[in-house]
Amino acid sequence: MSWNYKNRIITIKSFESEEFDIVIIGGGITGAGILLDATSRGLKAVLIEKEDFASGTSSRSTKLIHGGLRYLKNLEFKIVRETGKERAIAYKNAPHLVVPEKMILPIQKGGTYGKWMTSFALWMYDWLADVAKSERRKMLNKEQTLAMEPNLKPDLLKGSGFYSEYRTDDARLTLEIIKTAQRSGAVALNYIEAKTLKYDENGKINSIVANDNLNNNSFEIKGKVFINACGPWSDEIRQIDQSMNNKRLHLTKGVHIVIDRQKLPLKNSVYFDVEGGRMIFAIPRGKVTYIGTTDTNYEGKKDNPNVTMEDVEYLINAANEMFPNIQLEIDDVQSSWSGLRPLIHEEGKSPSELSRKDEIYLSPKGLITIAGGKLTGYRIMAQKVVDIVCERLKINQKCITDSIQINGYGKEIDKKQILDKIKTLKISISEQDFENMWHIYGVQILKIIELFEKDSNRDLLVSEVMFCIENEMTLSLLDFYVRRTGMMYFDIKRVKSSLDKIANIFKEHYQWDESKLQSEIQLVKDEIKNRSIFE
Ligand code: FAD
Repeated sequence: MSWNYKNRIITIKSFESEEFDIVIIGGGITGAGILLDATSRGLKAVLIEKEDFASGTSSRSTKLIHGGLRYLKNLEFKIVRETGKERAIAYKNAPHLVVPEKMILPIQKGGTYGKWMTSFALWMYDWLADVAKSERRKMLNKEQTLAMEPNLKPDLLKGSGFYSEYRTDDARLTLEIIKTAQRSGAVALNYIEAKTLKYDENGKINSIVANDNLNNNSFEIKGKVFINACGPWSDEIRQIDQSMNNKRLHLTKGVHIVIDRQKLPLKNSVYFDVEGGRMIFAIPRGKVTYIGTTDTNYEGKKDNPNVTMEDVEYLINAANEMFPNIQLEIDDVQSSWSGLRPLIHEEGKSPSELSRKDEIYLSPKGLITIAGGKLTGYRIMAQKVVDIVCERLKINQKCITDSIQINGYGKEIDKKQILDKIKTLKISISEQDFENMWHIYGVQILKIIELFEKDSNRDLLVSEVMFCIENEMTLSLLDFYVRRTGMMYFDIKRVKSSLDKIANIFKEHYQWDESKLQSEIQLVKDEIKNRSIFE
């Protein structure tokens, strides 16, 4: 069944007569991973998300699938090994979405680590993660480092470690995992919010009352096991369940800023020390380079946390210190984003000292909450949760997600064949834009091309929008610009130039009236302002 608005209405209607094995609240990477694992073990599964899929932390990360070098600093070897293994599995199953990314770790006089320590730490990092010999770290001297990245500050530079990580698009990864599960029968709906929980005569949860936030009507979803995968919001669901224990969330905010690639022309990602012992990334991607992240305690609103002038100045100062020839200014920031880390509170610890480990809480009433963790570890977190679910349901099925290819899966050879087809059809697209599309849709570009061939105006962007509307539950302009394509972060100029055209496609498809059209356009304009004007 296609995954679009028409089927959303039919699906909601069917809830009246359905009972699911597993009901997942929260459509970030954690919920998505659980949905796929449960479905692949034969469970009847549903996921609901109160906004758009990945609209919480899972579209606001640094977008790295990484082994967690910082864990090594805390001597957490087991986590480094585990995340290293997960990194390799993520790449194997989604090579179109999880892309090798070389990192430079500059070694500076007075920095956290000296040459020998960096060399040993990176060697250990590769060894724990079982990195292929050809991909293992190389140590570079000062001249080699500057030849690679001439914009690095030369004064205190002693050399660098050159090592391997992976980058991804967090929101796309979340979406494609959901689509992989959906292909095998899972149900997943956005803009459906869990409002209350209902219990049977033994005090065990047997349904949730949910609200359709688009049409404002409420209904019940019945199930056997209920999962709270609400990231920064998970304590709210635990409060509804009255099952808060001595553990609670501690939210910290992380901000990234986006600069034109020509202004900060890096060839590789750089992971560097800043004052106070923190480390931040500068990551080149397509037309831009993004820099992040901050790590500060947070207590404000959880939906769309804001980026303050203080956040931006912190990152600009850090970048100007490391790349003194560049001298970034506030006006160079084209876009930005801000996300909340749902960490587990530990008394007396500062934001960067808090563990990134995941934890599972089992409520006496049956609710299973999973909190903390990383994008990179989503699969193994899901496995732990679904193992518990299977035990409860007395189902003996082992986890198989380590060998499930993620939707859109494609290798270099597929990419080349699609590029050849694009050339034959004389579709006008730059190499960089094609590369970008490949890392968003993988082999699904073929479906976009099919739409293009049917379209009398032959406009690739229009075909892309139609593909997202008809196959990806894309219900608003912001769904398209932020979570389906990342254009709001990585090509904000194109958002501005395409807004009227794309808004009219949505208007026609969803039969929006003029006031709905204008309010949707305004939401995009507000978002553009929030991403680039700071207080
Ligand atoms: P979320 O993505 O927040 O999902 C929870 C969802 O639940 C939300 O979409 C929310 O709308 C929904 N929800 C809440 N209440 C309800 C309700 N009542 N009904 C229905 N739905 C509800 N990890 C990495 O591996 N690599 C990185 O590079 C990395 N960088 C990071 C950088 C930053 C700045 C931050 C903040 C985190 C980073 N992380 C990284 C960590 C990673 O992003 C998170 O661990 C992960 O995204 C959390 O996903 P989640 O699904 O648990 O939460």
